[in-house]
Parts: sequence; structure tokens; C-alpha cells
Amino acid sequence: MAHPLTVPDSLKHLTVQKGYPVPYFVAYPTKDEQGQPAADFRYADPLKLVNSIRGDKCFVCGKPLAKDRYLIAGPEGLKNRIHTDMPMHEACARFSLTTCPHLVYERADRRTSNEVATQQIEGQALQKPGEFYLVRLFNYGFILDGGAVYINFQPSAVERWHYVDGRLVADGQGWQRRPDFLQWMRPAMVPRNHLIAKLKRLYL
Ligand SMILES: [Zn+2]
Repeated sequence: MAHPLTVPDSLKHLTVQKGYPVPYFVAYPTKDEQGQPAADFRYADPLKLVNSIRGDKCFVCGKPLAKDRYLIAGPEGLKNRIHTDMPMHEACARFSLTTCPHLVYERADRRTSNEVATQQIEGQALQKPGEFYLVRLFNYGFILDGGAVYINFQPSAVERWHYVDGRLVADGQGWQRRPDFLQWMRPAMVPRNHLIAKLKRLYL
């Protein structure tokens, strides 16, 4: 399949594999035919997870986050305010929405929660949703559940993306705010330092 990708300057430092820049968080669990480490986009590398939390880094580009932070959530995630991926830059999130095959193509397989190396969430939707939301974060914190870390977030606004003719596109409504965004769903969270210490004991 041809991928005439335009990679923004902010992502040009990433390794390219099979035509796609490999996001910072991705693990390299196997080797390819040439014996080189092969990225598996479904798996988050625990060390990079720890580094992204400790260094306040974007999950996609691995560079320090800006004041405004974003994530890509399905309708269930937006409803329960729980997310497995760490925050990212707006440009990195938009690049993912328009590039990541798992998101872009309606018929591409979605990773299932038990395929994610370190993270499983009870009740996470295993069926691929018909829409995704680019979420601008108002606030978020970390929750540690056994060995799984995830974030509990409060959106400030969302931009809805949906599938048209099998491809993910923005719905054209722009940023939307909803009254329920004001509710802070689960205030009990783990301080960042405790979380990093626990993750290091578990995975490093
Ligand atoms: Zn980034």
C-alpha cells in the first residue's frame, strides 16, 4: 500500500518502519528478518511509559509537552474519562488521527486490551468505535491499578472524528464543549513520584 506521508518537522527524528514514523511509546519486542529490532505499534515500552511520565513528555514524539495537552479517546473513554495512552501535543495527535492505520481505516483491526503489554482496563471497549475524539485536556491525573497505569482526565473541549467511506475524518463542527466536562470523575489519583517509583519496581 502506498503511503504518501508528509511527516511534520516535529516528528522527523522518529525511526521510520514500513513507511510510518514509529511513535516514541512503541516497544520493539521482536527482531525483523535482518535481525534489527522490530516495532510493534500495539505495545507500549514500559521504560518509555515511565520516561514520558517522569519527563512530562509527549507519548508520540517523546519531546516535552506544551501547556495544552491532548489525547485521542473513543466514546467510552470520553464517557468514563479513563485512558491508557499518555498525553501528547496537538500536532502529534492530529498526525496520529490522519496517519495511524488503526485509526484512519475503519476496517483496520484495533488492538485489544489484553494485547497491550502493561495496560488492561476492565470494561474497555474491545470493538472499534465508529468515532473518536481529539480531546483537549483541562486536567488529568494518574491511576495505578495493579500493574496498569492509566490517566483519568477532564476535557476542556473535544473535536469529533468519524468514519466517512471507511476513512476517519473530522466531523467539521470544530471544538465542542459539554456541560458534563465540568465534572471531575475520579479525584483519587496517585502522585506522580509514587507512580514512577512503583512502575520502576514493576517493570525496570
Ligand atoms: Zn509530540
